[in-house]
Amino acid sequence: MHISERIAQISASPTLAMSAKARELKQAGLDVISMSVGEPDFPTPAYIKQAVKDAVDADMSHYGPVPGTPGLRAAAAKYMSSFALQGGEDIFSADDIIVSVGAKQAICNAIETLVGKGDEVILPTPCWVSYTEMVKLAEGVPVMVRTTMDNDFILTPEALEAAITPRTRLIILCTPNNPTGAVYSTEEINALAEVLLRYPNVAIIADEIYNKICYTGKCASWASRKDLLDRMIVVNGVSKAFAMTGYRIGWMACKDKAFIKACTRLQGQQITCATMVAQYAAQKALEGDLSCLDEMVHAFEHRRDLVLNLAKDIPGWKVRCPKGAFYLFPDVTALFGKHAPADSEYAKAHPGAVISNADELCEYLLMDGLVACVSGAAFGEPTCLRISYACSEQQITAAMQRIRTAIQRLA
Ligand code: PMP
Ligand code: GLU
Repeated sequence: MHISERIAQISASPTLAMSAKARELKQAGLDVISMSVGEPDFPTPAYIKQAVKDAVDADMSHYGPVPGTPGLRAAAAKYMSSFALQGGEDIFSADDIIVSVGAKQAICNAIETLVGKGDEVILPTPCWVSYTEMVKLAEGVPVMVRTTMDNDFILTPEALEAAITPRTRLIILCTPNNPTGAVYSTEEINALAEVLLRYPNVAIIADEIYNKICYTGKCASWASRKDLLDRMIVVNGVSKAFAMTGYRIGWMACKDKAFIKACTRLQGQQITCATMVAQYAAQKALEGDLSCLDEMVHAFEHRRDLVLNLAKDIPGWKVRCPKGAFYLFPDVTALFGKHAPADSEYAKAHPGAVISNADELCEYLLMDGLVACVSGAAFGEPTCLRISYACSEQQITAAMQRIRTAIQRLA
């Protein structure tokens, strides 16, 4: 069959591809440690599991309202309002929320609704793999603006302003960041906001899906910028904070009624509504005692310290301390040009055995170190690679030991 040009140009998600590859190798009997996909390894908290059982028993098995159930929309509005600085004031109401099949679909729908052919979308890189493809799907033009490790991967106001043109329709900002772990401070958000105030035609998607997983105290939120709320979409969900990736519930919050209406129209033609039992579980998750999340965040912080410590002993890696999310993003350029040992699987598959970029280093680490990570190229930063440390401390220790041994064998 003919594949449309629009879909033919979209690449597969490299994070999902790597995690599928790791799964395949494991099923084939290889002892692979996967540090590829960004997914908490904790079980979903018991009270949420109970909620989904209750929902099944209560026959929540019919279609629901397109933008989400009233209960989840109200709970999400409260949750999203709690991130702003206003203090007690509920800046979002249930009407401002659209619940989708994961934050991924929320972002995709927002982009579809805002971006048309030739519209430019500013993406500070490194950025999550799916933004670029979603923009292309909407026939928009991704405009990559590079941030650097020397500046802790924070976008500067100067770089932002230099990237804005009359065709700029949208900017997507992610804090805490996937893949760098960078967290924008209130001052850094304010500095960018001052630039954006001068360009009223530029909308903002603030992807804050990792904001509960922050090691610097309360994570600053774009929702605090009241003066930009009329053109801002704040995205969140239960996947990361509540260890509910497979439930597939995420949402966006936006004060622009016309946008919410348009986006709801799109969603009604696409999915009708997100899964009803999963919405009920997500509602109960948000209404529960959120202190149960602290335990997971502490565990992530502990793992962050562990992985960072072990990374310092790996030859050729340059690292910065991630302040949020659960990724380490080392610069590995010092290893480019090195050769894999002649007896390695990599050398057997690649005559010359040279490792010239992060894609090839990942392949070597998978084939010979049996550790799956993701090349930084997937995130628009080919000098780095991404390690997800959302796995057990034993796995982290073993994986980092394997990586060290494999890299020590390079010549
Ligand atoms: N945004 C970012 C930055 C992510 O890393 C992810 C990863 N899943 C998502 C959005 C989407 O999350 P989900 O669809 O699982 O809610
Ligand atoms: N967001 C996670 C990651 O970056 C999950 C996979 C995906 O949706 O890309 O690994």
